[in-house]
Amino acid sequence: MNMTVDEILKQQILSREDVIALLQTDKEGRNKVFTHAAKIKADYVGKKVYYRGLVEMSNICSKNCYYCGIRLDNTNAERYDISDKEILDAVKFAYESNYGSVVLQAGEISSPKFTKRISKLLKQIKELSNNELGITISLGEQPEEVYREWFEAGAHRYLLRIESSNPDLYYKLHPKNQKHDFETRLDCLRSLQKVGYQTGTGVMIGLPFQTYEDLANDLFFMRDFDIDMCGMGPYIEHKDTPLYEYSDLLMPIEDRFTLTLKMVSLLRIIMKDINIAAATALQAIDPIGREKAIKVGANIIMPNVTPGMYRDSYKLYENKPCTDEEAADCTNCMEMRIGITGDDIGYGEWGDSKHFAKRTQHQS
Ligand code: SAH
Ligand code: SF4
Repeated sequence: MNMTVDEILKQQILSREDVIALLQTDKEGRNKVFTHAAKIKADYVGKKVYYRGLVEMSNICSKNCYYCGIRLDNTNAERYDISDKEILDAVKFAYESNYGSVVLQAGEISSPKFTKRISKLLKQIKELSNNELGITISLGEQPEEVYREWFEAGAHRYLLRIESSNPDLYYKLHPKNQKHDFETRLDCLRSLQKVGYQTGTGVMIGLPFQTYEDLANDLFFMRDFDIDMCGMGPYIEHKDTPLYEYSDLLMPIEDRFTLTLKMVSLLRIIMKDINIAAATALQAIDPIGREKAIKVGANIIMPNVTPGMYRDSYKLYENKPCTDEEAADCTNCMEMRIGITGDDIGYGEWGDSKHFAKRTQHQS
């Protein structure tokens, strides 16, 4: 006999079948999942949201992921690379606004020159903030020694989404070549853990060809990999990309949105003490999309501090929000937004992953 949502949620451990069933619940069922996840969040990580000021450093990328608007072969993307001074000014803004942490993100570039530039920037960020700012980086696949150099220069968290934990689906989203190798991506995640980063991964939700089983497996992949942080968001098609061709296979965008909220909730239920980001892509669908994610389990938000003139060019997907604003506009707006979730804001705090603390305690 099939179990009810209440019966499923009462169990200590959810099976793959349970998760697949919960991903497909109707409105009444999903509200139960959301309420359960909100309680777990309050009990394990508290009703508190931490800020990471996001600097989208550059949209220059050497890769060709089929879904992404800034892929190498998209000649319609106007390329930019923010100067070090502008990056440091943006970081200073985050510091002075008491954001606690910053994230540096960019297209994927691998070169000794790029490695050195990032190391220098990391040290400068530590200096300008009296070592107070926490630093997350999201700069794609790199050799382990590069990850180590950046860790030693001051970064302590790294985001590298697996995009999909199903290799078959992964290769429908990426060219089948050495630069887009699934095994390499896994190796990179392992290297990040080994070097000592709080390691974050995530997936896109509502991709063409993706099944509920794939999504359930993604959640168990994250559990089995023992990740510390997660950033996952809805897939939003971009017309200048090869994957756009399969747009007729997509579920309606509102359903991708709701499915993302369910994924956030279920991950919170499965991995109680990790950090989960409310993805910016949610806001491209619903003006209060990120706040909704915070209500159902997320505890991290990444206000954009990229100088306004560049924001429109960092277009991974269409309808990116707030591209006509400056960082200063975001502070009040963010405070009001978190206000509606009922959570506190962890001003000036790093808000590190509690899971990481536990994971590393056990090891030592
Ligand atoms: N180059 C780095 C960081 C920038 S891309 C990297 O790839 O890791 C950051 C994330 O944007 C990717 O991991 C991907 O999941 C997401 N992304 C790219 N294109 C997207 C799209 N069309 N819809 C939703 N998310 C997208
Ligand atoms: Fe480049 Fe990242 Fe976009 Fe892939 S997802 S094309 S690596 S920016």
